[in-house]
Amino acid sequence: MDKLVSLCKRRGFVFQSSELYGGVGSVWDYGPLGVELKRNVKDRWWRAMVHARDDIEGIDAGILMHPRVWEASGHVATFTDPLVDCKTCKARFRADKLMDAQCPQKPSKHPGEHTTCQLTEPRQFNMMFKTFMGPVEEQAAVVYLRPETAQGIYVNYLNVLQGSRQKVPFGIAQIGKAFRNEITPGNFIFRTREFEQMEMQFFVRPGTEDEWFETWRHQRWQWHLDLGLTPAKLRWYQTKPEELAHYAKAAYDIEYEFPFGWNEFEGIHNRTDYDLKRHQQYSGKKLEYFDQERNERYLPYVVETSVGADRCTLALMCDAYHEEQVEGETRVVLRFLPALAPIKAAVLPLVKKDGMPEIAERIYHDLKGRCTAFYDDGGSIGRRYRRQDETGTPFCITVDGQTKEDGTVTVRHRDTLKQDRVAADRIAGWVLERVV
Ligand code: ATP
Repeated sequence: MDKLVSLCKRRGFVFQSSELYGGVGSVWDYGPLGVELKRNVKDRWWRAMVHARDDIEGIDAGILMHPRVWEASGHVATFTDPLVDCKTCKARFRADKLMDAQCPQKPSKHPGEHTTCQLTEPRQFNMMFKTFMGPVEEQAAVVYLRPETAQGIYVNYLNVLQGSRQKVPFGIAQIGKAFRNEITPGNFIFRTREFEQMEMQFFVRPGTEDEWFETWRHQRWQWHLDLGLTPAKLRWYQTKPEELAHYAKAAYDIEYEFPFGWNEFEGIHNRTDYDLKRHQQYSGKKLEYFDQERNERYLPYVVETSVGADRCTLALMCDAYHEEQVEGETRVVLRFLPALAPIKAAVLPLVKKDGMPEIAERIYHDLKGRCTAFYDDGGSIGRRYRRQDETGTPFCITVDGQTKEDGTVTVRHRDTLKQDRVAADRIAGWVLERVV
């Protein structure tokens, strides 16, 4: 993990927020390469969940919502984690995650394991961030930064139904920021206080939810495989009844084996009609669906798929990171699927003379408008290849002595180190075919 964090900073994937001021431990900023990687993940999710399907619509709801939304959803009353304080070292821990935490006292042990530890009884701590809407800081003006994007979907479910041609079963998808005042954020971008979720709520006829739950479990598993994640590092975790969120009847997590252990990065939840029922009750407005084919009214049940864009990006980076020995040197390489790589191709003139830079620039500009490309003419070719390996660029295009003779360039493949020759005037199309 330390190696990955340091690579992320060095190459511009992820920086600590406000580092200039000592940093904020629970927030991270994506740099030029990180933002491309995360955007590719989100675009891929949107394509699979919205564009490729006839039965899902997208929305983009506000982060701030009417405070009653969070009363109705149950978050004001129950979106809590159990918190314990240590009277000796003054540190705070999640009571249900003591075995994942470290007591600040040396030698390194879990909280409660030193004879001097004095842990308090757990008390419930609400994880929603509060702020005030308007100029007056009073109770009546309290609003929350949303802790999940799902509620923006529920309160818009009828609007979407009316404005589209959808019929139950159908889904609504959304990508957006969520905020949780986590007691113990950590493990880089794994657990932060500000993060992005990619959530889809699928509305179904009561009685069909178990079948849809299985369908969505299958689809979401396949999506992760298609990202190129190592199958042996993925597994299901079935949430135990006592661990279920207040809204859920059943839940499965997709876990990835991060360097710090197996952990959830997507949840598939059977949320029943809990949310719609509560919004109907709290708003006093009917949210029932009239099923014309069956001539019946009902509140749809909901199957939710919820994946963190940041945790998914972290899983991809952990999975892609490889160190290997090449000609007596250690090569660090990020083996992203070409479609996910932040930079698709680097264009490198072998030397800065003999007309090579002019040809290389032409190729670079031809590529640039159609995919992310990088031009590099500094340093030995071997060093330039290594720099691209570290950022996960799948193809390096080198303009060399032979280019002027026969109009071909060298294409060097990141994973196999194999080199091919491709006609310079076809190279842009060649790259584009391989990076979608
Ligand atoms: P955890 O048990 O790790 O706190 P959770 O079960 O509360 O997670 P959900 O409420 O199911 O998580 O949220 C769905 C997804 O949102 C998670 O699978 C994860 O990818 C992402 N997510 C949740 N909390 C965070 C966080 N603090 N930082 C980054 N991503 C998060």
